[in-house]
Formats: sequence, C-alpha cells, structure tokens
Amino acid sequence: MSHEPTLEYAQKLDQEDRLAKFRGEFHFPVQDNGEPFVYLCGNSLGLQPKGVRADIDGELEDWAKLGVEGHFDGRDPWYSYHEKFSRMLTDIVGGRPDEIVVMNSLTTNLHLMMVSFYRPTEERYKILMEGGAFPSDHYAVDSQADFHGFDPKDAVIKVEPRDGEETLRHEDILEAIEEHGDELALVMLGGVNYYTGQLFDLEAITEAGHTVGATVGFDLAHAVGNAPLKLHEWGVDFAVWCHYKYLNAGPGATGGAFVHDRWAEDAELPRFAGWWGYDPETRFEMLPEFKPMRGAGGWQLSNAPVFSMAPLKASLKLFNEAGMPALRRKSLGLTDYLLYLIDEMPSGSFEVITPRAPKRRGSQVSLKATRDGRKLFDALQENGVICDYREPDVIRLAPVPLYNSYEDVWKFCDILRRTLASD
Ligand SMILES: *Cc1c(COP(=O)(O)O)cnc(C)c1O
Repeated sequence: MSHEPTLEYAQKLDQEDRLAKFRGEFHFPVQDNGEPFVYLCGNSLGLQPKGVRADIDGELEDWAKLGVEGHFDGRDPWYSYHEKFSRMLTDIVGGRPDEIVVMNSLTTNLHLMMVSFYRPTEERYKILMEGGAFPSDHYAVDSQADFHGFDPKDAVIKVEPRDGEETLRHEDILEAIEEHGDELALVMLGGVNYYTGQLFDLEAITEAGHTVGATVGFDLAHAVGNAPLKLHEWGVDFAVWCHYKYLNAGPGATGGAFVHDRWAEDAELPRFAGWWGYDPETRFEMLPEFKPMRGAGGWQLSNAPVFSMAPLKASLKLFNEAGMPALRRKSLGLTDYLLYLIDEMPSGSFEVITPRAPKRRGSQVSLKATRDGRKLFDALQENGVICDYREPDVIRLAPVPLYNSYEDVWKFCDILRRTLASD
C-alpha cells in the first residue's frame, strides 16, 4: 500500500477502520494538560476496558448479598466461574474449550506444565529455548533442569542470533532442534519475542520438535490476543500465557494454559495436583485418590480467584465481537504505517530490529537506539507518549488494533521527529 505522511491521511484510515469504535470502550491515561497520552504499551499492560468496573462491582454485590451462596446462585456462579473463559478464548488461541484453562499466573503455569511435559531421562534430558527469552522463562527452565538433577549449563540449549544479527533465523532454530534431536526432551520457545517483537513459525517448530521425539510448548505472553494461533491444529503439546498484556485483564491478572487433547485423558502424566483439577462430578465426595478431570482443567489447583479473573470478561467480549482475523488485519495495517513513517525520518538515531515480514511480527515494533536510548525514551514520555524501554537500548512500540488508531501512530511519529530535531 502506498501511504502518505499527513495527519489527514491517518485520520482517513481511521474513518475507514471498522474496528475504530472499540477505542471508545477503553480508559486512556491522561496527561497533566488534560490530553490523553499516546498509549503504545499494550504489549506490557493493556488498557482498562470500561466494562470492567461493572463486572467487579457485580461480584462485590453478589458476595455482599449472597455470601457463600454466590458459588451457585451468583450472576456468574463462582463454582464454574473459570469455564466461561475457556469458551471465550477458543478463537484467540485456536483450541477447544477443554484444552484451555484460566488459572494461576504465567510462570506458575509454565512450571506446572513442565512438571508434566519435561520428563527427562539419562539420554534425553535437554530443553531447547531462545537465548533471548524473557528472564522468567530462563529461571523457570533452568530451575526445572536443576530440580531433575541436571546442570542447566549442559541441559539447557539456548539458540542465539548469528553474529551481528538481532533476531533468530528460522532455519537456525530448526537446525538446532535437529542437531540435538536425540537428547531433546522439550522445545520451549516464546511465540513472539518480548524484546525484538519477532513472531516465530510455531507450526513448523512444533513439527520439527515432534519429529525428533521431543515435546513442544510455548510461552505465548506476547502472542496471545496478538498473533493468529491454531494450537490444536498445529499439535502443540502445551502453552501458557498471561492476560494482562494484549488481553487487557489488568495488572497481575490470572494466567492461562493450553494442553492438547492428545493428553486429555493420559493418566500416566505426572502432575502437581489440587482439588480444583479433580473430576467435578465427584469432587465433593472428597475421596483420597486424585482423579483428574478430562483436559486442561485437570491441571487446576485451586478454586477461581474471582476478583483477578473478573476483568477478563469485558475484554474477551470485545475480542470475540471484533474477531481475531479483523484484529490481525488492522494490527498489520498499524505496524505497516508505523514502519512507513519511521522510514521517512532522517536515519542514524535508531534502527528497527523487528522483522519486516508481516508473517514474522505481531503488533510490536522495536527500535534500537544508536546512542542515548534512555534519553530519547524519557523525552518521548515528557511529550505525551507511553511506550517502554528495555535495557540496554531498545524502545518498544505496540500499536494494538483493539484501541489504537492510525492517528496515534501518526502522533507518535510526529513527536519522535520533533524530539530528534530538538536534540
Ligand atoms: C510478561 C512475561 C512473563 C511474565 O510472567 P508472570 O508470571 O506473568 O509474571 C513471562 N514470560 C514472558 C515471555 C513474558 O513476556
């Protein structure tokens, strides 16, 4: 598409945007001068949907009026509270309702999944991950290897970009899987890398991992609600994610997990069990021996934390109304326009490290500053932009399709251009 660098053009794109109405469903942080910030940080903490307050108020009212009876008589009975989210997430992760469960937090779920799906033997004990993975993933994976009596330095294989490159080459990931094939117990990568914004070919990675006899799981923190996902069809063994980034459920919101149907009834899988994963038909018979319910729900430990799940309802309603295909189209439209405007700017101050190919990125564009990245970031914030900065030198920008506009993208680039000019 041939773009134009004017505000009028950006506004025209917004007028033609059928998802533009969803912007009005969110609260935008406001500057001291009364103007809303240009918010490009939905990859870190999604904005608050306006419907959240009523949903939380509803739970407070039910608790006040009904006490313990709210478990069965509430407007959304707490006993089965988590179930509706599995249904609402099916199109977002590409799984069946009983392959999906909302529970705990991301890193907790990653551990629970590895308890079941990282089952090392003396010959096959290695885990393959990205060298540039989010720190929590490194800690979780290393500590699992250590827990099983292996030295993480030996047991954890970290795939790195080639010298002088910022992102991983797909062929290098596949080659590493093949090279270590006989020793690999688990392949565990992110869906979208948090730092570079690179979207991996999850289908091909799953196939490569299975071909060498490893299980395959993904941390979808930056992919869920962002990139198109077909976890069931791709045959992914497990996945975990959080709901406070693109899915707008608020700070520290309850996380999610996917377990492929092929494992739904496997009684041999070791797991750390709790009463909420027990077959609901007989849960209250309180029998001594654990009998997991079928599917992902069988990994639940505790009853639903209603107040940290409630905010997810309003956001998922909006996602289901908008639909992932339309959101993906707009996401690519926004980042395409952002990249066009960035390319129009005088070069030299930063470089785009996110892959240019639409198939290899989500809603995020990462700029690597050539010098004084922190200073540039601070100046952007002073001038009304909320984005984020990751040491040592990367500014991450995420125009998200549910509430950002083409005008936001234009305004950001206008502020960036003026900030660079005044330097
Ligand atoms: C955001 C993020 C996390 C955060 O983990 P929590 O357990 O939710 O605190 C972990 N991994 C990745 C890849 C992330 O992007």
